[in-house]
Amino acid sequence: MISPGVVIGVDLGTTSTKAVAYDTDGTEVASASAGYPLDEPNPGWAEQDPDLILDAVLKSVRGVVSEVDGPVAGLSFSSAMHTLIGLDADGSPLTPSLSWADSRSAAQAERLRATPGGLALHRRTGTPVHPMAPLPKLMWFREQEPKLHERVAHWAGIKDYVLSRMCDALVTDHSLASGTGLMDIATLSWDSEALQLAGITGEQLPELVPTTTVLPGLSTSVASRLGLPAATPVVVGAGDGPLANLGLGAVDPGVAACSIGTSGALRVMVEKPAVDPLGGVFCYALTEDRWVVGGAINNGGIVLDWAGSALAPDIGTDPAALLELAGQVPAGCGGLIMLPYLLSERAPHWSALPRGAYIGLTREHRRQHLIRAAIEGVCQQLALVLQSMRAAGNEVRSIRATGGFARSPLWRQILADTLGMDVQFPAGPEGSGFGAALLGMRALGLVDSIDIAADLVQIEDTVRPDAAAAGVYAALRPVFAELYDALVPTYRSLRRLSPQLPLD
Ligand code: ADP
Repeated sequence: MISPGVVIGVDLGTTSTKAVAYDTDGTEVASASAGYPLDEPNPGWAEQDPDLILDAVLKSVRGVVSEVDGPVAGLSFSSAMHTLIGLDADGSPLTPSLSWADSRSAAQAERLRATPGGLALHRRTGTPVHPMAPLPKLMWFREQEPKLHERVAHWAGIKDYVLSRMCDALVTDHSLASGTGLMDIATLSWDSEALQLAGITGEQLPELVPTTTVLPGLSTSVASRLGLPAATPVVVGAGDGPLANLGLGAVDPGVAACSIGTSGALRVMVEKPAVDPLGGVFCYALTEDRWVVGGAINNGGIVLDWAGSALAPDIGTDPAALLELAGQVPAGCGGLIMLPYLLSERAPHWSALPRGAYIGLTREHRRQHLIRAAIEGVCQQLALVLQSMRAAGNEVRSIRATGGFARSPLWRQILADTLGMDVQFPAGPEGSGFGAALLGMRALGLVDSIDIAADLVQIEDTVRPDAAAAGVYAALRPVFAELYDALVPTYRSLRRLSPQLPLD
């Protein structure tokens, strides 16, 4: 049989784009990546040059194409969620690309959250009202840069922009749109109340299309730069969160994907849009009949990295050595709790206010306890997300996990103990780019269903919770949760005082 060729999954991440070619049995054939800076011109801003990202996408795809021998059946895209760019009538950027980490619209988001309409919007759009999302960002432009806001012809995400330059079509997929705070997830159309708040019309946004939409091909100049035929199909693809579940093979309803890299996330697959009446979890689309419900946390491995540089400079940021110290003290750290909100936090509270804290310190506590409490805090926060997913009526039957933390057996165990569930770890390829390639294969008719992902991703290790440790974490969890609420007035006071309290 003649091979249909490889599908290239192109993953537009926050600091780099990675392109990987896979054949239809999931084998990685070639890969290339290209990076770009994330600029912080003002505190809390996190923006990027859209054309540097476009350039990195073309460079990484070109790099892969040059290494592939056979035909390329198509390209399929994954992208960081929640990005926003203002374009002029010719489709050229008038603003940088504001990343999910950009919190300039914290005041707009907080104001909106405080109204009953805030929770209603979360329910209708699936997106928590948080500065990460395009809706509060658009409100910020409307208030702070009204002239610029007026001049913008179209607002788009970074992948929408990149595809507009590659394929001459301004479209956005239902998955990324479900993370804008602007799309009604029940009707898959722009939400008129959200548009009103943003001060824009639906015509100013890209055309909404399913994630499996195949664009007919590449513009001639892009095709020649990539070394591909202009007729190469391009699958629009989806957001990196939902695609991470697909890439982990966590596609069956009730199967969750957990990641702890620099940040972290926990998401479970459901069959139709599910709304959380309490507003603790998001609901983002993957395909018409697969959605993910869950939450992302800002503070994952970054908390261990901080603990190393701040508490153990002799060890620095060597994760293995830090975890060895953490392993010297028992679960629960003698009553020491760390709230890991070093970069504020997202799920399940979705407020930009919180700051980190240690509670329960005694004279007996050593740095081993402080380091372990930091890791336990990250896992407890994910356990709160799990609790919110269940409180919203979602069954979580099993969990697959991935990310840098998985290199540590101790951290694997602490996660299983804190979640109180078996946690499975995959072998071989996984991730959002792999998810994009699988979605692309489905869209191009090379595989029958995305459900093949569950078979393609092999599990190499299952960690079972230790009953005694799980009991300790379960007992501490309500205290961990209460601390958040108790400290909200303190966070507010600190936010008010912060201009008078410079770091250096
Ligand atoms: P990213 O999220 O940027 O893709 P990774 O998934 O590689 O990054 O995760 C990076 C995090 O993994 C680091 O912040 C670090 O705390 C953690 N990490 C790296 N190596 C180890 C290790 N050997 N054991 C435990 N954690 C580790």
